[in-house]
Amino acid sequence: MSSERADVVVIGGGCSGTSIAWQLARQGAGRVILLERGSLAGGATGWSSAIVRTHYTHETLARMALRARHIFEQFAEIVGGECGFQRTGFLALVSSGDAAAAAANVATHQRIGIRSSLLTPDQIHQVEPRLNLEGVGAAVWEPDSGYADPHGTTMGYAAAARRHGAELRLGVTVRAIGHDQHGVTSVESDAGRINTRTVVVAAGYRTGALVAPLGLELPLTPIRHAIAIIHRSASFGPRHPIVSDRVLGSYYRPEGAGMSMIGTTAAHEGREDQAVEEESAPTLEEEGTLFERFCSRFPGQEQAAAQRGYTGVYDCTPDLQPMLGATAIPGLHLAVGFSGHGFKLSPVVGELIATNILHGADAAADLALFQPGRFATGQLIQATHSYRVGTLG
Ligand SMILES: Cc1cc2nc3c(=O)[nH]c(=O)nc-3n(C[C@H](O)[C@H](O)[C@H](O)COP(=O)(O)OP(=O)(O)OC[C@H]3O[C@@H](n4cnc5c(N)ncnc54)[C@H](O)[C@@H]3O)c2cc1C
Repeated sequence: MSSERADVVVIGGGCSGTSIAWQLARQGAGRVILLERGSLAGGATGWSSAIVRTHYTHETLARMALRARHIFEQFAEIVGGECGFQRTGFLALVSSGDAAAAAANVATHQRIGIRSSLLTPDQIHQVEPRLNLEGVGAAVWEPDSGYADPHGTTMGYAAAARRHGAELRLGVTVRAIGHDQHGVTSVESDAGRINTRTVVVAAGYRTGALVAPLGLELPLTPIRHAIAIIHRSASFGPRHPIVSDRVLGSYYRPEGAGMSMIGTTAAHEGREDQAVEEESAPTLEEEGTLFERFCSRFPGQEQAAAQRGYTGVYDCTPDLQPMLGATAIPGLHLAVGFSGHGFKLSPVVGELIATNILHGADAAADLALFQPGRFATGQLIQATHSYRVGTLG
């Protein structure tokens, strides 16, 4: 078995790990090695609906999402490659009971420079006349949001990381993280040992098992989420915007020329499943529920053709927000627990983690909110104006 040295080892080749490796290499971290047990984007990233919205119920997250969206919009220039960003607009439907919270969130977003507005039911129909608005009191409209291609995005980060000198090794499973009284010392994989004083673990749900031997218990729950797909009927017309239906608890995202993807908005809604690497189809019941929700919002689609759906796993934390940054073990950093909304944040997560490692916590102040130790001290992240139904970051 070989043994070598790196300045930083990144574990995990999803959108988080590759973005972090790119930023570390770009910011001059020295020898950066990324280890991925399978293929790039082979975990949650590859199943992601990849919705890129800025609507969040916490200002820090909204700011991060806005900065991230700017990077998606100019991906070819900033990162290189094709992230496939499609600007479709994002419409979040809320009940009348949630309208006041939506108005307060929109006011925050407008203040920090997001193009967002609160719509009455009549105004919603001007944006999307085909919607049945039963139970809807208001909506948030973000004309600049959309979705991207999670594979293309990850390949873009990976290529950029390599261009800046990082080494990305695929098919390498990390078995252990070595440490002594001063902190991290090495990474042990089935391809040998890499001596290093800095490790970033971005290995999704598996992060918990990797850091547990170092005395860190991460409150991560793997929740499998179903995605149903339909081919809309020809009479439907042009594609719809992304609709986040806070009343029925689903989202509807256009895909390709005539398809729609349907998922659930509640991160905890799904089955706990630790076999995160395994593929599995949604149950008939899950697909049926998702179809019903789509059809009740878009009447006349009952005869739309169902395509085979799929599932993917969210790495959920108790407050449904990620654990980012340094831990109690010197040299050990985390980027995990994205709870179903980590794709859109990935450009900024890479930037913040690398900046924190290279320039210190003050230079990456936004990370403070997401400190991994917050669950032990009861400092869970709270929405400033939360919604009663579903979760929206
Ligand atoms: C169905 C679904 C829909 C989603 N929709 C959205 C959305 O619309 N918008 C949004 O922003 N987010 C969405 N998300 C969430 C988003 O996709 C994830 O938060 C994000 O992809 C997480 O990326 P990651 O790199 O942190 O983790 P992953 O993509 O899971 O990557 C972790 C990697 O670590 C590797 N690994 C694990 N253990 C080891 C080991 N021991 N050694 C080496 N490598 C290891 C794995 O193989 C994997 O490739 C969705 C997720 C799912 C499942």
